[in-house]
Amino acid sequence: MYDVAIIGSGPGGYAAAIHAGQAGLKTVLIEKQKRLGGTCTLVGCIPTKAMLHSADLIEEIRHAADNGIVVQGNPSVNMGAVLAKKNKVVEQSSNGVSFLMKKNKVTVVTGFGKIAGKGKVEVTAEGGAKQTIEAKNIVIATGSVVREFPGLESDGKVVLNSDQILDLDRVPKSMIVVGAGAVGMEFASVHAAFGAKITIVELMPHLLPIEDEDVSKEMERAYKKRGIDFRLEAKVEKLERLPNGVKATVAKKDGTTEVLEAELLLSAIGRKPVTEGIGLESVGIKTDGRGFIPVSPMMETNVPGIFAIGDAVPTAMLAHLATQEALTCIDFIAGRNPPALKYEQCPGATYSSPEVASVGLTEKAARAKGYDVKVGKFPFSANGKARILGQTTGFVKIVSDTKYDEVLGVHIIGPRATDLIAEACAALRLEATTEDLARTIHPHPTVAEIMGEAAHATLGHPLHI
Ligand code: FAD
Repeated sequence: MYDVAIIGSGPGGYAAAIHAGQAGLKTVLIEKQKRLGGTCTLVGCIPTKAMLHSADLIEEIRHAADNGIVVQGNPSVNMGAVLAKKNKVVEQSSNGVSFLMKKNKVTVVTGFGKIAGKGKVEVTAEGGAKQTIEAKNIVIATGSVVREFPGLESDGKVVLNSDQILDLDRVPKSMIVVGAGAVGMEFASVHAAFGAKITIVELMPHLLPIEDEDVSKEMERAYKKRGIDFRLEAKVEKLERLPNGVKATVAKKDGTTEVLEAELLLSAIGRKPVTEGIGLESVGIKTDGRGFIPVSPMMETNVPGIFAIGDAVPTAMLAHLATQEALTCIDFIAGRNPPALKYEQCPGATYSSPEVASVGLTEKAARAKGYDVKVGKFPFSANGKARILGQTTGFVKIVSDTKYDEVLGVHIIGPRATDLIAEACAALRLEATTEDLARTIHPHPTVAEIMGEAAHATLGHPLHI
């Protein structure tokens, strides 16, 4: 009898397994794929960022001369080598997860896990052999998969989803990207840097529609400057699949239509939880109609002793959140009485060029909540290190509350935004004021100094502008 059985080895499941092992709980991790790590490691965070690094490099090399470095001829992309590098990083990361299972004495069982009653998981191996695992607690960490959109279903040839484009062995001449969320924006960024002509089609009025409006507008300016085209408040109404490409009829809000032609179409519209066929009904676990499993603040389902975390629950689909949910759930199982997660403090990040990251309330959301809002903005163009890097697009925007000076939200677009946001996450966690941020001693010259400057700007006295 195990203390915990975890179904799924993504950043939710494997983090739960490590934490449970460290707590001295007898733990089993069940994974249907041969490799551990889930979406994030195999087809999500890790491979996309490996490719984005190749994209960043070619952009940097194009500007080598600005830094006095002579490059003979024009840099070009060897897609085979880009994929090989990406695959190597994925392999290393997945092997790292396997190593951590051994290190923390977690039993790994390869096979399809299905709940077969309270405290029971039936595992079916590839060849059909079945075994039943008994555990005092079960954690569902089955994650999510690509959601195919009617009419835009992937065919692996001219219409690709986010899994398939990771193995595309050429740079397309042109690509339509449907969806301007993080996934669509990142692939648009990669392939534009590699030389593809990109057109993004987004239903909402802005790129990265959930970000602060100022950030989205800056992103639109930045992508325009990079030659990335986009159609906002628009949707693909009709799609013709040709032998060597697609013809997409795009309907716009003003009632007009436009026909876009491209070699490929990437559908980056969303993902759905993996909760069907895993035996939820055998114990009476309810889903919310969209397939997500509602849980308590301790990640427990409506059935005591059965927990759910990560993309399978109706919270943001992010690896770092899945991991935190895993820690909360295991701490609860181990009787450590953990605090509930503060979801409003979960950062979002888009690793495009420029990068975008944010945490907390947008200016609009803070005003809607009735705060007397104070806003400060500081541009990267006035940051010495950003000028050294030659990356001066963007800004940091702080949204704070006039009454207590508390930081309510931080929104960054520009170099290293996805790293810089960590300071803002700590600030929100500690209920810091903008004065705390302004008085924090930041090392010079760093891009990170911009956080202090943005705080000074919020207080009305920025130094370097
Ligand atoms: P998953 O990672 O989806 O893992 C679930 C695992 O469960 C899988 O291995 C699956 O095989 C297994 N499984 C499912 N059913 C069963 C079963 N019945 N039996 C056994 N095993 C089963 N998030 C970020 O935070 N940062 C990023 O930069 C980022 N980039 C992304 C880029 C892309 C292209 C995509 C698609 C996603 C990205 N994400 C990113 C999201 C992130 O990958 C997910 O939020 C995260 O992987 C969710 O973790 P999880 O543990 O809930 O599930």
